[in-house]
Amino acid sequence: MTGVRTTRGRIAAGKVALAAAGHSSVLASMAGLRLPLQSHPLQALVSELLEPVHPTVVMSNAVHVYVSQAHKGELVMGAGIDSYNGYGQRGAFHILERQMAAALELFPVFARAHLLRTWAGTVDVTPDASPIVGLTPVENLYLNCGWGTGGFKATPGVGWCYAHTIATGAPHPYNAPFTLDRFTTGALVDEHGAAAVAH
Ligand SMILES: Cc1cc2nc3c(=O)[nH]c(=O)nc-3n(C[C@H](O)[C@H](O)[C@H](O)COP(=O)(O)OP(=O)(O)OC[C@H]3O[C@@H](n4cnc5c(N)ncnc54)[C@H](O)[C@@H]3O)c2cc1C
Repeated sequence: MTGVRTTRGRIAAGKVALAAAGHSSVLASMAGLRLPLQSHPLQALVSELLEPVHPTVVMSNAVHVYVSQAHKGELVMGAGIDSYNGYGQRGAFHILERQMAAALELFPVFARAHLLRTWAGTVDVTPDASPIVGLTPVENLYLNCGWGTGGFKATPGVGWCYAHTIATGAPHPYNAPFTLDRFTTGALVDEHGAAAVAH
């Protein structure tokens, strides 16, 4: 890897680090690398503004939804990924319907709240539901992806470990198990239990 070609021209680089979430596999394929990632839409939604009524985060693995209330007053809800692959930043309506039905099962009183806005991002899902952070078979190309539905909380820590990996050319001990080659060696880090719930 000697650089990248962007819409604003070429940038020469001794090292290139990918951190493109749901678009990682598309970018890696430009370097001839096929990643074990599936890209899915993940939706969230907010209601209109309400008085403070819900001062905590509730998530249910049984009916599959999470509900919290933002400081401004919107109820914030979400659940799991849309099950099809896609790069569109919008999801299917029936997924939202299911999320709202689940929320009403927990909180019937929210039936009168109107849905204000929905959106989706493209999340990058690995076969063992753990991220990939480290080196690649392409010399000087580094990879940080596969965070799926749970990358928010990890970004400060993994940013530090990824910087260490890029600077030294070797994984930091924290990200050493999260290699790309675990999908050929079989040394998986199975986190389906943690990743399947809202968090
Ligand atoms: C609706 C929703 C709810 C979520 N809820 C939670 C939650 O409650 N808790 C949690 O921990 N995580 C949650 N996540 C997941 C979290 O957002 C991601 O795991 C995290 O943002 C991934 O971080 P990242 O830095 O890898 O990628 P991103 O933050 O997605 O950043 C990737 C960047 O790459 C850029 N990019 C893409 N393609 C290219 C290209 N060709 N060239 C240049 N740049 C490119 C994008 O524009 C983007 O800025 C949620 C995600 C969604 C969509």
